[in-house]
Amino acid sequence: MADQPTPPPSQSETPAANPAAGAAGGERGEGGEVGEAPSKKALKKAEAKAKKEAEKARRATEHQASQAAAKAAAGNTEDLAKDNYGDATPQTKIVAELVSLKSVGDEHLGKTIRARGWVQNSRMQGAKMAFVELREERNWAIQGVVAASPEGRPVSRQMVKWIGNINLESFVMVEARVEKPLEPVKSVRVSNYELHIAKCYVIAPGPEVLGMGLVVANKAVTNFDDEDAGQDVVEEIRKGVEATGLDNVPSASMATHLNNPAMHKRAPVQQAIADVRMATRKLFAEYLDSKGFNQFEPPGLIGAASEGGANVFVMPYFEKSACLAQSPQIYKQIEIAGGRKRVYCIGPVFRAENSNTPRHMTEFTGLDLEMEIEDSYHEVRDMLEAVLLHIFRGLAERCADQIALIRTVYPSEEFLLPGDGKEVRLTFAEGQALLRAEGPEEFRNVSDEEDMSTPQEKALGAIIRKKYHTDFYVLDKFPEGARPFYAIEDPENPKVTNPFDFFMRGQEILSGGQRIHVPTTLEARIRKKGIDPSSPGIKEYVDVFRSAGVPPHGGGGIGLDRVVAWYLNLPSVHLTSYYPRTPKRLLP
Ligand code: ATP
Repeated sequence: MADQPTPPPSQSETPAANPAAGAAGGERGEGGEVGEAPSKKALKKAEAKAKKEAEKARRATEHQASQAAAKAAAGNTEDLAKDNYGDATPQTKIVAELVSLKSVGDEHLGKTIRARGWVQNSRMQGAKMAFVELREERNWAIQGVVAASPEGRPVSRQMVKWIGNINLESFVMVEARVEKPLEPVKSVRVSNYELHIAKCYVIAPGPEVLGMGLVVANKAVTNFDDEDAGQDVVEEIRKGVEATGLDNVPSASMATHLNNPAMHKRAPVQQAIADVRMATRKLFAEYLDSKGFNQFEPPGLIGAASEGGANVFVMPYFEKSACLAQSPQIYKQIEIAGGRKRVYCIGPVFRAENSNTPRHMTEFTGLDLEMEIEDSYHEVRDMLEAVLLHIFRGLAERCADQIALIRTVYPSEEFLLPGDGKEVRLTFAEGQALLRAEGPEEFRNVSDEEDMSTPQEKALGAIIRKKYHTDFYVLDKFPEGARPFYAIEDPENPKVTNPFDFFMRGQEILSGGQRIHVPTTLEARIRKKGIDPSSPGIKEYVDVFRSAGVPPHGGGGIGLDRVVAWYLNLPSVHLTSYYPRTPKRLLP
């Protein structure tokens, strides 16, 4: 406290209180003899002198302090707060409780805490005060206030100026007192508290100019031109965003987002999407675990194309070549052949398709299951329906916060679910009939023998939403030509197969069905599809069913990226994937 005015010396410390000292000016006291006590008059005089001295000392200290403050105010003097801010070094320490911004509460009021976060915004308020917004995960941000102290510390004007000019998105550590703001701070989520900053150190500085600012990163991506999304999709999302009346900060294209991965991922909306994604995975596994499924791990590297050679990435593999698995299907079936009744796996699936659409990537995450069937493929269909309903209900409950945040950027109507026992299951032919009867003009003549196009699927989704009040439904009995060789034909109508597709908001998210488990039937159908049953990969597949009696079974593969995207009504799966791989993008 050296710069505090020195208090006047107390009575006991004054020279007058020490008779011997008081007499030091002469060995004789006035009018007294040596060795005698000083006279009353002398004592009074000494006392007055001491008082005068003390007053003089007090004034001098006051003067020094006001000079220091004035110099600090002029900004050209020793910075008394210099140790309280700057770039952090390995020695920099703040000895106070570390509190995460989202947990700041009444219990911290008036207390000094330590906090870490990114500077998402800052502004000077005159020369003596600055406001900085600190953000932690997602949108957990709080307002920090830093005001110069009259005596130049703990906060000096230089410190205020320095903090007010920290580059945005720098990572900082502060010591601050938690206070209630005069009124809630609307611009931040932790609006009922503010941090009165006494120390601030930059742990990792942001650049002078960000490749993409946070405000822009958190805007809806409406420009997929560079990703080749269809113009209809681009228009659709643009209209949706306009309807919310969001401010007109320009949004960045998908490519700009993906070229600025750190800022893309810092956007609260992206973190909320990532949370929904991980919750979806967990809900899938959790439900199947509770139904007696065993998780297993299929290989990613395989020796031959698992589905007959199409759409497979081939690469050198020592003296041979290898493929990236386009589906874990054969391995799920081997697990069933290997004596497991129910299995599931979660992992990457690779497709060498040059499809530049908002639905496709060259690598996506598959949620796959396979199970024994007792009587009918309906057992598999019902299980898949149940796990997806569990996911949808679970997301609404566990991710309500994230979903609300996402909707502020990507507006969407509630994802409608069928009531209990009211699941919508139509045959492919019934779906086409609906399209012909109630769909747009151009679909008046759709045929039961040809697979549906994406616009047809979307139009059917809209009809079903209106008619059955659900965004989730099943189509089965697809034309034989639209299904792979392992799909079981309908015993009553060989023109169609039993397998099914599931849809969300009119877009396919799952394919599944019963598989052929009798090797002779399998071989015959492989031939019917024009594939050689002895070709690499196919032979090994059929051999599994020859090697041991395999019970009837079926399963399905769900595209995680699509489930998340269509549940949230996002314009593209590229927004739900952590690192989208497309024909045009392999980096970062
Ligand atoms: P599509 O016809 O839409 O290309 P598909 O019929 O090839 O899909 P399947 O092989 O049946 O798809 O795969 C099962 C699920 O995996 C699909 O319903 C979808 O959710 C997901 N999926 C398939 N291909 C892709 C892809 N390229 N990118 C993202 N997800 C995909």
